[in-house]
Amino acid sequence: MTVRRVFGVETEYGITCAAPPGGDPGTVVTADDAARYLFRKVVQWGRSSNVFLRNGARLYLDVGSHPEYATAECDDVHQLVVNDRAGEAILDEMVEDANQLLAAEGVPGTIHLFKNNVDSAGNSFGCHENYLVRRRRDFQAMGDAIVPFFITRQILTGAGHIRARAGGGATYAFSQRADQMWDAMSSATTRSRPIINTRDEPHGDADLYRRMHVIVGDSSVAETTTMLKVGMTDLLLGMLEDGVRVRDLALAEPMRAIREISHDTTGTVPVELATGRRMSALDIQEAFLTRVTAYLDSRGLTEGLTGVQRRVLELWERGLQALRDADPSLVDTELDWAIKARLLERYRSKHTLALDDPRVARLSLAYHDISPTRGLATTLARRGLMARITTDDEVAAAVSEPPPTTRAKLRGDFVARAQERRRDVTVDWVHLKINDAVQRTVVLKDPFAPVDERVDALMAALQA
Ligand code: ATP
Ligand code: MG
Ligand code: MG
Repeated sequence: MTVRRVFGVETEYGITCAAPPGGDPGTVVTADDAARYLFRKVVQWGRSSNVFLRNGARLYLDVGSHPEYATAECDDVHQLVVNDRAGEAILDEMVEDANQLLAAEGVPGTIHLFKNNVDSAGNSFGCHENYLVRRRRDFQAMGDAIVPFFITRQILTGAGHIRARAGGGATYAFSQRADQMWDAMSSATTRSRPIINTRDEPHGDADLYRRMHVIVGDSSVAETTTMLKVGMTDLLLGMLEDGVRVRDLALAEPMRAIREISHDTTGTVPVELATGRRMSALDIQEAFLTRVTAYLDSRGLTEGLTGVQRRVLELWERGLQALRDADPSLVDTELDWAIKARLLERYRSKHTLALDDPRVARLSLAYHDISPTRGLATTLARRGLMARITTDDEVAAAVSEPPPTTRAKLRGDFVARAQERRRDVTVDWVHLKINDAVQRTVVLKDPFAPVDERVDALMAALQA
């Protein structure tokens, strides 16, 4: 068995209110107002736009920002994918409610939520991955070691992006986030700063753990892309935590490389390493994969891999093969960049459209629309053009039930009981608190623990 790990994904969503067909775009509400409509019901029951749910997740809206859903702590990649999809289901229901509210108030337009990373005004928003790691003195060194991994994995897990070219026209790139990271961070000096948020906030026992807070990835639409993104990172972290070092793959200029790699959809453009050697993203990813598989073999861990871990390694390999052979059809139902490229190409050739045609941009945006009716993912999946690893039943269950194997179980059950008993409580990742005359708080420092006697007592107090 590989080392057990807790992880969670935070997704910020793009929001717009679209004018009705033929309607005047000037009459629809702003994104800020749309977000307020979206959260109106949440604020009614939670008295806040920052709430923890009975499935252990956090749902929130900061002032002037994008709706965000942070999954509860998961300890299995399949479970994480299910919980991430549950977040979409919850938000989609909120969208439907908000649209009914708009209609009832006679406000024109339809609210859309997009699981992407840049809006029409060019604002960027993120998808953060969080991985619990054991605290060790060389955290920074470990972080630096995986920077080249995070910079290059976009050739597999990028969401695909139509990018305006300086001289006019457009090109297809792997990642939406790459250019944004470069713009925001090109002046940063610490090598890992733009990739890993180094704020030391472990949401757990700080003597034992750190939280690796990765801010560089694209949001993923296809379940198999989420699976690969989190699964490959988890396996690599296991190797690094076991003391295996990767020093020879450090990049000379990571933030320049992230852009160059995104813009070259063959994966083969060489970038410069700190050693002066030049390697392509494809070669770098291959080096990481080879080392991870060799590590697993050398520790006798290959036998005990879970089904989803095997699938991660297989897709990692096949994704690289697709680039090596210049044959995206090897992965074009599983990896977002390839699924989307195929979708756009078919549409363009059918209607003879250039890549920078606004109709192509609209189709590309619809790929990220989370609505099962207005978005494309559900239809693509039904037609066999987008793979799934979850079932609708699993996702529906995860809307109201926490992951049973981590701390999320304690939080979710506590929130559910408080809602049933109409008790006033305050909750965050590590605290459960009853707000009444005798204030009681339990601190949950162990993200792995789904049972706790102190919480049993707290639950009994809620029952009283
Ligand atoms: P910000 O939104 O400003 O980035 P933040 O990174 O602290 O703040 P949240 O939006 O609250 O994050 O989300 C935290 C995420 O980290 C959740 O997905 C949660 O499941 C996960 N998480 C919680 N505790 C841990 C932990 N100890 N290790 C790894 N992940 C964790
Ligand atoms: Mg967050
Ligand atoms: Mg975060």
